[in-house]
Amino acid sequence: MKDFAFDFDSKACADCGGKCCTGESGYIFASIKELEEIADFLKIPFEDFLLRYVKKVGYRFSLIEQKMGTEYACIFFDTQNKNCSIYDVRPKQCRDFPFWKAYLDPQNLPQLFKECKGVKRRDDLE
Ligand code: SF4
Repeated sequence: MKDFAFDFDSKACADCGGKCCTGESGYIFASIKELEEIADFLKIPFEDFLLRYVKKVGYRFSLIEQKMGTEYACIFFDTQNKNCSIYDVRPKQCRDFPFWKAYLDPQNLPQLFKECKGVKRRDDLE
């Protein structure tokens, strides 16, 4: 991930409490194939799954959110255990975090460094 100004250690995820799955309201985009995989994983008919857990955003699809105190969490964030309840089939957007296009922009980095303790500035590592 040489284009990014940071490295990421996923070991930090174990006790972070799911900061990338919670917070301000946002979108958790998923492809049709990913949505089908999640529905299969949950053993829910695809049509029912779409009605219950998915919203259309323009021409794309996002998982819906749940309220969590004053914030929001992905509908599949397990608020008791503080982890993803569909981890093995989570969408690419989730698997790619924190290597999102938005974080190529230095302006967005302070917030990322604040929120994700697995992220370390490259220049701190050298
Ligand atoms: S699908 Fe899982 S990893 Fe992705 S935002 Fe939802 S709870 Fe987090």
